[in-house]
Amino acid sequence: MSVESIRQAIRDVKDFPQKGIVFKDITPVLKSEKLFKEVVDIIAGRYEKKKPDYLAAIESRGFIFGSAIAYKLGCGIIPVRKKGKLPYKTIEESYALEYGTATIELHEDAIRKGDEVVIIDDLLATGGTAGAAARLIERLGGKVTGLEFVIELAFLKGRTNLPGHLVNSIIVVD
Ligand code: AMP
Repeated sequence: MSVESIRQAIRDVKDFPQKGIVFKDITPVLKSEKLFKEVVDIIAGRYEKKKPDYLAAIESRGFIFGSAIAYKLGCGIIPVRKKGKLPYKTIEESYALEYGTATIELHEDAIRKGDEVVIIDDLLATGGTAGAAARLIERLGGKVTGLEFVIELAFLKGRTNLPGHLVNSIIVVD
């Protein structure tokens, strides 16, 4: 199995969820036991020598990859969720969307000072979501030691919203 096979399995869905967006559908990757394993092995492989304390997985497709990677690495997983979903006391960060803003949350006791955390999501677009997740972790005293994505839409320059961070993606779309 190769990175090219992962690229080929990702399905472009035009005009979803709204006109003008090409949605990168990763469900064919999840459905293939070989490709799903390949993605998990590639990302986990980058941290086997220096395991983070936690993976912070972004709702909702980040949860799918994040839980398998955390299991493989033997570390815990922390859900970063859309506002209003986490039951305990939270801290929140907002970020700009094309129209309006979105807000994500973290439990206020999710991370302790000095914890090393890797952020995982399926796709890096503008970097707004991942940047807000990194700020949440840093506000609690955590150190973001990497940000991992399956797909990066490089033309949206999401990395510019993640300055000073290690950012990796398996599939880059120019
Ligand atoms: P952003 O904050 O702009 O980097 O957007 C990243 C988040 O939106 C991720 O959680 C993605 O799952 C989702 N997303 C943004 N654009 C797309 C796209 N073209 N296809 C699939 N998911 C997307």
